Amino acid sequence: MGQRRGLLIILSSPSGAGKSTLARRLRDWDPSIRFSVSATTRAPRPGEEDGKDYHFVDEEAFRRMVTDRRMLEHAHVFGHFYGSPAGPVEEAIADGCDVLFDIDWQGAQQIQKSDLASHVLSIFLLPPSIGELRRRLISRGQDTDETIGKRMQKSWDEISHWDSYSYVLVNDDLDATEEKLKTIVTAERLRASQQPGLLEHVRALQAEFEERP
Ligand code: ADP
Ligand code: 5GP
Repeated sequence: MGQRRGLLIILSSPSGAGKSTLARRLRDWDPSIRFSVSATTRAPRPGEEDGKDYHFVDEEAFRRMVTDRRMLEHAHVFGHFYGSPAGPVEEAIADGCDVLFDIDWQGAQQIQKSDLASHVLSIFLLPPSIGELRRRLISRGQDTDETIGKRMQKSWDEISHWDSYSYVLVNDDLDATEEKLKTIVTAERLRASQQPGLLEHVRALQAEFEERP
């Protein structure tokens, strides 16, 4: 029935709510989902790989990408620049693959206002409580107390934009949230606008119908 059109799956949440964990699980479930590797001016954390987790660039290179219109969206978060390079997204869409974005509300809003808006699936994750959010950030063991304090502050800002997303999931039980996420993606892929081959299929049905004895 022809190739389907790729979805732009935007997953946002306050830091620590489980976005990276769920993004990983979604891609393990369907490895054809491509991850949009963002460019950032922040330094790599231990274990992070250039080109896989992020493209780590300096401010000059980042600004050049923005002026050359090579960013689908970009934002300033925690004192650093972050942006989604447009090229790989365009390629994925052309190949009929979904692209997963781990970006903040500012980026989500920019993509939702772009030419690709009709192919966006936006999902926001909420933590079950603020206490649990703090516990998860601490248990991740990646940040100093000062950074955790800043992240908690930024979490409030992020949470306040929850209602500009199409779907909102409270990530209490991880397995249950994963199942809900897969259900949403499965359903959204069936949107008529995501199936460009439908018209041809219906025409074939019509031809067959009219030929019938
Ligand atoms: P984010 O990408 O949103 O900053 P992570 O995916 O890194 O968050 O999750 C933060 C921490 O919380 C990780 O240690 C992760 O294993 C844990 N975590 C994620 N979801 C849950 C959940 N539903 N229940 C308990 N722990 C969780
Ligand atoms: P971190 O530094 O913890 O990897 O990411 C910090 C925040 O920046 C997270 O909320 C993450 O979703 C957001 N972020 C990462 N990449 C991008 C991007 O390309 N664009 C935007 N707008 N936000 C991003």
